[in-house]
Amino acid sequence: MPLTGIEIFKLLPKTNCGECGVPTCLAFAMNLAAGKAELAACPYVSEESKAKLSEAAAPPIRPVTIGVGDRAIKVGGETVMFRHEKRFENPPGLAILIKDTMDDSEVDGRLERSKLQYERVGLTLRPELIAVKDESGDAKKFEALVNKVKQNSDSDIILMSSSTDSLAAGVKACADRKPLIYAATKDNLETVAELAKGNSCPVAVKASSLEELAELTAKLTEAGLNDLVLDSGTRSLRQAFQDQIIIRSAALNKKFRPLGFPTIVFPCEMTDDPMKEAVIASIFIAKYGGIIVLSDFQGESLFPLLVERMNIYTDPQRPLATTEGIYEIGGPNEDSPVILTSNFSLTYFIVSGEIENSKVPTYLLVKDTEGLSVMTAWAAGKFVADAIAPFIKKCGIADKAKHHKLIIPGYLASESGGLEEELPDWEILVGPREGAHIPAYLKAQKT
Ligand code: SF4
Repeated sequence: MPLTGIEIFKLLPKTNCGECGVPTCLAFAMNLAAGKAELAACPYVSEESKAKLSEAAAPPIRPVTIGVGDRAIKVGGETVMFRHEKRFENPPGLAILIKDTMDDSEVDGRLERSKLQYERVGLTLRPELIAVKDESGDAKKFEALVNKVKQNSDSDIILMSSSTDSLAAGVKACADRKPLIYAATKDNLETVAELAKGNSCPVAVKASSLEELAELTAKLTEAGLNDLVLDSGTRSLRQAFQDQIIIRSAALNKKFRPLGFPTIVFPCEMTDDPMKEAVIASIFIAKYGGIIVLSDFQGESLFPLLVERMNIYTDPQRPLATTEGIYEIGGPNEDSPVILTSNFSLTYFIVSGEIENSKVPTYLLVKDTEGLSVMTAWAAGKFVADAIAPFIKKCGIADKAKHHKLIIPGYLASESGGLEEELPDWEILVGPREGAHIPAYLKAQKT
């Protein structure tokens, strides 16, 4: 049983030193009990207390790792129902389905599409998993497909079969990649548990109800298996959605350990319509799929899902920010234009992208606005003449550009007078309001 806040408090040093980020040990204990703090934040807990507190400190939803090395994916580990309470921790893995009844060209096409990736705001977005499914019932055929996937892809692997022989053959082929074994059921629990334990692999548990699911996970944890992934068995959107919420709530709000694991959902088995499938997947990205298996990856649906996932799984307390400084785009020289913008990552990537499009070598000055966009930073008083001028003076641009003309964002037009006063050596030019107008503006400046 998890410990209460008061029980945790009794094990803390009670010095109220505040080094954990809250003013008292009692407040820290309450946060720990609620899964909103990590034990490591207190440097003064004794080893004896640490051992006693380990259960209370463990995330209410266990983090589970699939795969090895740099490409391993961690799912679960969540501590809140809603992103604004703190943040969501580990983005759900997206999997493409490959069946052993597909012909070679179809398999090759899917292997190729499993490598789709996109650059956005400086991040590489890509799906992580391949779900290899035994549909033939032929263990040798399944093993051959697993081998092919392993040799031609560095994606993490889910082995799917209702036959324990096929699962054993699949594990034999790729145990070194630490695949997720799908699935232990009430009919094969002992055999699959042995397979997972013997190969140190995570295992998915499938049941026909949440009650049955909890019974099966309790048996598996008793048998020493802790890296579990939950499949509530339903393939209707309404019920599966409800199950996700009940599982998350039971783990977080009731501290019900048998459901304290990430989930796996199958939009690929909920519809034959690819667009509808993408919409269903988007629902599970928001609430609360741990792994989402799609029938295929197509750019037009995969990219929006990856962007949705990125947006939901960024920390709402930390805007994506770019480092303050001078960015040289296209090899500028002393005659090149100088543009100013904020350090909100999306703003930076839009502005830098448009400068690249213009093919006009340019100095881009990125001012630290604590990750706020131009208008928000201006409204917060972080992107006004008084704040910009010291940055221009100290950043070193005056030594690089001999013309001393500074192009400010169109939305900062009202700051131009203040900047002229603060920077008497500089001519202040008001640039476009929208990034899309930057190329035309820069080209016009040249002529
Ligand atoms: Fe108490 Fe530890 Fe926090 Fe200090 S750091 S207030 S001792 S819980």
